[in-house]
Amino acid sequence: MSTKKVHTFCRICEPYCGLLAEVEDGRIVSLTNDKDHPLHKGFSCHKGIRYLRVHQDPDRLNHPLRRGNARSEERGDFAQVSWDQAATDIGAKLNDIVRRYGDKAIAMYTGNPIVFSSSFFTNAEALTAGFGAGPRFGALTQDCANKFAGSEAIYGAFLVHPFPDFLHTDYFLGIGCNPAISHMAFMEVSDPMAKLRAIKQRGGKTVFINPRQIESATPETGDVLQIRPDTDFYFLAGLLHEIIFKIGYDRQRVEKHAKNLDELIEFVKGWPAERAASVSGISLDAIREIAREFCAAPAASIYMSTGVNQGSQGLLAYWMLNMISLLSGNLGKRGGNLHSVGFCPTAQFSKRKQDQPFFQSEFGEMRAIAGTLPGNLMAEVFESRQNPVKALIVVSGNPLLSIGGEARLRAAMQGLELIVVLDIYRSATAELADYVLPATDFLEREDINTLGLGHQLEPHVQYTPAVVPPHGERREDWWILSRLLQAMGRPSLLDDPQPKPFAAVEAMLQYSGLSLDKLKELPCQTAILPETNPEDLFRFAVQNDDGLIDCCPEVFRRGHASAERHWRALLAEPKDQLKLITRRNGLMVNSWMHNLQVHKKSVHMTNPLWMNPQDAESRGLFGGSEVSVQTDFGQVQAELVFDETLRPGVVAMSHGWGQSKAYGLTTARRFPGVNVNQLAAVGPGTFDVLSNQAQLTGINVKVTAIPSP
Ligand code: SF4
Repeated sequence: MSTKKVHTFCRICEPYCGLLAEVEDGRIVSLTNDKDHPLHKGFSCHKGIRYLRVHQDPDRLNHPLRRGNARSEERGDFAQVSWDQAATDIGAKLNDIVRRYGDKAIAMYTGNPIVFSSSFFTNAEALTAGFGAGPRFGALTQDCANKFAGSEAIYGAFLVHPFPDFLHTDYFLGIGCNPAISHMAFMEVSDPMAKLRAIKQRGGKTVFINPRQIESATPETGDVLQIRPDTDFYFLAGLLHEIIFKIGYDRQRVEKHAKNLDELIEFVKGWPAERAASVSGISLDAIREIAREFCAAPAASIYMSTGVNQGSQGLLAYWMLNMISLLSGNLGKRGGNLHSVGFCPTAQFSKRKQDQPFFQSEFGEMRAIAGTLPGNLMAEVFESRQNPVKALIVVSGNPLLSIGGEARLRAAMQGLELIVVLDIYRSATAELADYVLPATDFLEREDINTLGLGHQLEPHVQYTPAVVPPHGERREDWWILSRLLQAMGRPSLLDDPQPKPFAAVEAMLQYSGLSLDKLKELPCQTAILPETNPEDLFRFAVQNDDGLIDCCPEVFRRGHASAERHWRALLAEPKDQLKLITRRNGLMVNSWMHNLQVHKKSVHMTNPLWMNPQDAESRGLFGGSEVSVQTDFGQVQAELVFDETLRPGVVAMSHGWGQSKAYGLTTARRFPGVNVNQLAAVGPGTFDVLSNQAQLTGINVKVTAIPSP
């Protein structure tokens, strides 16, 4: 028997936690946290460790599948075909579609998991551009397009997101985040909870702003101020107003690095803390105290995440957040918000290409952010009269469950001539496909941690070999897309008899005098890099041509009217209006990990509606009963579960559920839950036109009892 241990790392979320795999006779027999890892030192969460069950799941795809029945039949009749047959068929169909409808008829959708693959991430442009000029969609417009659009406008580059320096900060303000559960996005940090506890241990303070009493708020970290959902912009604007008009700031220092300060001041003038207090549920005194404490701390840092991003004003909120950091003197300061270069500066790769991103379309004014159109318009774009889409390639994504209005999108997808899905599972979206192509999981793939570049709290670079070769006929995504391009007769990475999917990675590593070979020689294949220089934010991150941070980009000024409208609407709402927020749990990530039996226990067997008992009592609703949750756009039925951690007036559900039609997922289908995104608005006028961000949280809902039969 041959046995070996392989140091590898998780690729589910940003921390890229070190894992140790034990391999016997070519099979992985255990996966644990890696205590030898020089940075993570054994930290990981159970999702990373349980990924071995994903790797071993009998429902995994092992061969290319071709549909034999009409797409109108809910359950696909899939049969195994060879890679050559699948590629030849798909290539011929795509070429035929392009011949009949032109170069814009092939749409693509890329999901979240694929961005953790460095061979895809660093070749994404080449791998997708070859399919023509058709529309591109992605998961980002469901949870973070506001941040991309915000940074593109402020810093001139959509991949610049100054992160809180947990290691040195004296004050941390975290809004709409829950590090204990989500481990932080747009920031590569190992064991964030330990670092939050350390802030308090060294005499600092953490304050969370969230509608829930979140798991991250403990006596060892800090308290939560329970904000009314979707009012974060007003809260942040109120803080900035206090800084500008009451506390004061160093104008000379700000203007050394930034422009359009007077325009920012003019905007913020209209949003004093009093207005924030009137709608946010956070008192005027509390807002003022936070502003004072933030500015008085030797170093203060600020961060927001999905709970704000998915609201109706995530872009404006992110603008305020960055300006609070800048004007309080904490941007580019140790203990404040930083930009880390890591092993290679990458901000310039996302530099804004045009000053005026908007264009007129048959659906009104539109833009692309990071090349991506609004997911809320996906169905309309497919059915465009001017440029109809006839083929869709989905790379590691599940748009049916992640975009609002599942029924609308399902109907639009029915009208496509060809759907090709690359995935590790036959997901709900894959069930609609004509071809489902089996991708490798992260244990079958060579990689390094590229996604965190720019956002690493502790700069490092780690390499993993493929722990085991791909099972069955699974292939890496770069190979599959290249094979399809090759079948279309278009240039691809496979034109090289010895394809080099890591050529860009190697070039990037050279910046730090590293190479894949050098990394392979290091303990856990990991190089620890020098601590971030706070000045790097100004030297490497800012990509505006004049080298200055833009305090008031033109695109934001347009937000004033919508902020005013939304504030008035909030004031006019009835006192008992319920607001639905999305709630993550520690077992699932979006629609991933739903097929693991080990995750189906207690409250995680379904997707309940969480409600504060006070709200239930005032409506005559009972815990454990079935309720109807309604918006103007949809209705779902769910079990009511009491949750005293919710602010009264707030209810919560998780997204990523609704697996009843995912016939390839045995366990997920047995515990389907309900797709809460069916309650969200979709179509023209339902998303933030400035950023393409969908609103998936802070939604007004009505909850009523369903009479028992
Ligand atoms: S925190 Fe994220 S990267 Fe780390 S083990 Fe868990 S899922 Fe994986």
